[in-house]
Amino acid sequence: MSLEGIYDEGNVFALILAGKIPSTPIYEDAHTYAFLDIQPQSKGHALVISKWSKARNILEIEPEALCQVMASVQKVATAIRKAFDPDGIHVAQFNGAPAGQTVFHLHVHIVPRWEGDAPGFSVHGQGGFADADALRALAQEIRAQL
Ligand code: AMP
Repeated sequence: MSLEGIYDEGNVFALILAGKIPSTPIYEDAHTYAFLDIQPQSKGHALVISKWSKARNILEIEPEALCQVMASVQKVATAIRKAFDPDGIHVAQFNGAPAGQTVFHLHVHIVPRWEGDAPGFSVHGQGGFADADALRALAQEIRAQL
C-alpha cells in the first residue's frame, strides 16, 4: 500500500482498539493507547496509537492527535528506560509499504536498544512471535514505572 488510499476499519490496530483481538497493554489515556509489539525487535518494544484518529500515516494525522501520540511516546519511553535501563531508545514511524509500513493505522515504535545490538529494523516476522506470558510480564514491569 502506498501513501494513497483509504483507512481500513478492519486493520489490526482498529480491531485491537475495538477489543476484537487481544493486546498487551502498557498505558492508556483518553486519546492514546500503548501496547507491546507482538513481534518485538528487542525486549520491551512498544507501540503507541491514537484511539480516535483514522490516519494511516503522518501525512494524514491531525496535528492534535499527533501531539497526543508523541506525548504518550515520551511517557512510555521514560517508563521503559526505568524498567530495563537500555543504552538507547529507537523511536520510529513508517509511512507506506515501501518505507516498511505493514499496519495502516498510524503508530509509533519505541524500541529499547543495548550496546552491540544490530541497528535498524529487521524484517517483520524474522524474529517470530513473542510468547504471550513473557509479553505480559514485560508489560507489568513497564506499567510499574509509569
Ligand atoms: P509497521 O511496519 O511500522 O507497520 O509495524 C507494524 C508493527 O505491528 C510490527 O512491528 C508488528 O509486529 C506489529 N503488530 C502486528 N500485529 C500486531 C498485534 N496484533 N499486536 C501487536 N503488534 C502487532
